Amino acid sequence: MHKDLIKFVRKEFNSEEFIPLHIPTFKGKEKEFLAECIDSTFVSSVGAYVNLFEDNLSAITKTKKTIAVVNGTSALQVGLRLVGVKKDDEVITQALTFVATANAIAYNNANPIFLDVDRDTMGLSPKAVKNFLEEFGELREDGCYNKKTGRRISACMPMHTFGFPVHLDELLKVCQDWSIPIVEDAAESLGSEYKGKPTGGFGEVGGFSFNGNKIVTCGGGGAIVTNNIDLGNRGKFLTTTAKQAHPYEYVHNELGYNFRMPNLNAALACAQLEQLNGFIDNKRELATRYKTFFDSKGINFRTESEDTKANYWLMCLELNNKNERDLLLRETNNSGVMTRPIWQLMFRLPMYQHCQIDSQENAKFLEERIVNIPSSVR
Ligand SMILES: *Cc1c(COP(=O)(O)O)cnc(C)c1O
Repeated sequence: MHKDLIKFVRKEFNSEEFIPLHIPTFKGKEKEFLAECIDSTFVSSVGAYVNLFEDNLSAITKTKKTIAVVNGTSALQVGLRLVGVKKDDEVITQALTFVATANAIAYNNANPIFLDVDRDTMGLSPKAVKNFLEEFGELREDGCYNKKTGRRISACMPMHTFGFPVHLDELLKVCQDWSIPIVEDAAESLGSEYKGKPTGGFGEVGGFSFNGNKIVTCGGGGAIVTNNIDLGNRGKFLTTTAKQAHPYEYVHNELGYNFRMPNLNAALACAQLEQLNGFIDNKRELATRYKTFFDSKGINFRTESEDTKANYWLMCLELNNKNERDLLLRETNNSGVMTRPIWQLMFRLPMYQHCQIDSQENAKFLEERIVNIPSSVR
């Protein structure tokens, strides 16, 4: 079976060399925009491409305001601060995620609570959140508190794993019932839709990443999106050193960040965003071909759930058990076809071992079985 898989991947990517998991594609106006950016001398923290990028991303995500930032992690960090996360608060998220999700919480000096994911979406389970809050939640005048720790639960951060949207309607309902704002970690799900609406715009705030391995890249970059104009303006203020508007004086009245996306990166991002729909079509076509191939082998190729359209950023298999997974990882990687297991659960990492968790039944199941396979645009 693994020989057939290796052959299939090599044929799809038309290569006998090393096949990575995900590499960028630059087939649009990247060089044109970059040259124009350099000629303009505006290569740094302000410039026309930054504004254009913000407008274009708002159009794509159907949100009212976008703030371009230096990476996805900083987008999430500031997103949490925008919805009111403070020192010693708690933030609900999933243990099955990339470490940046949890780090963004810790950078606010807040504590993650790691809850289980759903088996189908691999993202935060609304049922797990509901169960947790029914056991530990207490609604007070200024929000939801954790009865066990006495701390305020000031946000919930779901992550749309590999571009598969979580069950948003159910999650929005439970978070609304408990007065907990949602900050979507949409770093992996640019262009993915839930009931016809793009991910990132469902929560109070959403965060995107444009890192080199994402579906669209600008070298490094991120964005905060929101439909709340006031929050958006405050986000721009905080990420640009909290400098008050003045024609020439420096006036800073609170602790801000220099998280600005350089115009140079924004130029690249603008050229990439123009190709997003083409990238998604290309990936969805590869997903269809993988599905047919793996069906014929009796292997579970993960597909989007009902009511969603996934961007198929990183495609993945669900093996029957850890032994099968390890065998596949070994044989493919030894043959120069890159595959990778899903992340270690966050509460196993030294800095998050003390955090409150629930059963993690689905997260542990998926942790042993999910493998990413080459997914680049061809
Ligand atoms: C990539 C990623 C991030 C962070 O993005 P950076 O731009 O690398 O900082 C955050 N969360 C998830 C789930 C990611 O995959």
